[in-house]
Amino acid sequence: MMYVQKIIDKVIADNPGEEEFHATVKEVLTSIAPVVEKHPEYQEQAILERIVEPERVIMFRVPWVDDQGKVQVNKGYRVQFNSAIGPYKGGLRLHPSVNLSIIKFLGFEQIFKNSLTGLPIGGGKGGSNFDPKGKSDNEIMRFCQSFMTELSRHIGQDTDVPAGDIGVGGREIGYLFGQYKRIRNAYEAGVLTGKGLGYWGSLARKEATGYGLLYFVRHMLADANESLAGKTVVISGSGNVATYAIEKAQEFGAKVVACSDSNGYIYDKDGIDLDVVKEIKEVKRARISEYIKARPNAEYHEGCKGIWTIKCDVALPCATQGEIDLESAKVLVENGVFAVGEGANMPSTLDAIDYFLEKDVLFAPAKAANAGGVAVSALEMSQNSMRYSWTFEEVDNKLKDIMKNIYENSTKAAEEYGFKGNLVVGSNIAGFKKVADAMIAHGV
Ligand code: GLU
Repeated sequence: MMYVQKIIDKVIADNPGEEEFHATVKEVLTSIAPVVEKHPEYQEQAILERIVEPERVIMFRVPWVDDQGKVQVNKGYRVQFNSAIGPYKGGLRLHPSVNLSIIKFLGFEQIFKNSLTGLPIGGGKGGSNFDPKGKSDNEIMRFCQSFMTELSRHIGQDTDVPAGDIGVGGREIGYLFGQYKRIRNAYEAGVLTGKGLGYWGSLARKEATGYGLLYFVRHMLADANESLAGKTVVISGSGNVATYAIEKAQEFGAKVVACSDSNGYIYDKDGIDLDVVKEIKEVKRARISEYIKARPNAEYHEGCKGIWTIKCDVALPCATQGEIDLESAKVLVENGVFAVGEGANMPSTLDAIDYFLEKDVLFAPAKAANAGGVAVSALEMSQNSMRYSWTFEEVDNKLKDIMKNIYENSTKAAEEYGFKGNLVVGSNIAGFKKVADAMIAHGV
């Protein structure tokens, strides 16, 4: 559609060099073209022109002192993308690759993902090019305190609610919350999610993204008369998402044979021993290569791409964006993969996604399949507002219902617009409509 293409071209021209942002805008806008065609009010009200422009972009200096007493400076970001259906909501990423393009791509995705959860949360994202690898606990603390000193002016439990993402887990959220509380002199627990259980975090938040991914994939497989029982699964990553994806996949009877970190991957043909992975990653904060010390029959390989050459039935990329390119997609299909579920954000490149769809691989796109994390974040906000906590089972049951609804709404939307079985299009349409209608209701 001409109008949609015009907006995509304008985004590319107006935001030079922001490749990740261009890719996500192209992916979302292309798939919602049929909706825009059917609803002239979206064009009349310039909804697409408005939705691709963040409501606010905050960029700031983050100075901190390292253990040698030397002053370091990093870049800080918070993109408050869309607040049509709730306060801005989305994680903070700490990784040397972080730049404005990556934060805008993640923030844009978050708008539609958050809408799909059915909960009242808008879209936002933030982070820094700070590299937590090899930093001491004190350095992490000082960085988080400095980061929050500026961020605290822009967030609030009804304004913008950050959480974790790559490089930000329970420890970092704790330091960030401590600094926020100090600055505000108020106990506003709902300002951050992913908090520790002792200070109003939600049970099952840690597990939510990985578990949610598996709940979603299970529905997708069931519709194709398939299940995870007895299937060989490859899961990249070994952070929070991957760890709990492995746990739930194993519970569903799958054999998970590989996982990875940013240095390399392990292959354990007998099935991964998750306790060993948890000990290395959650307790020692060490590299995944250590796995073979505990399991000498397993293999360790340097580099990340090789993980996709392992023969498997189901592939669950849970590491980072762009990790499955067209070449890897072809190898996976050649080796017989029949389902792919995205635990990370945008882990498959656009041409890899097209290839999977062309080859009839069942494909669960990130913004639907990994929405369980932010969904339980929204449940954490609800619990904080009530000043009350639900049990693990209560939260997990709500998560199961949410993932089922996301799957059903995405399937229905795809069918309604003539793309039966295409969850990429379905999830984009379902997520978009709610936000667009709210924007129209609110006026220009
Ligand atoms: N970083 C996660 C995501 O990409 C979770 C965000 C949140 O809980 O706010 O959705």
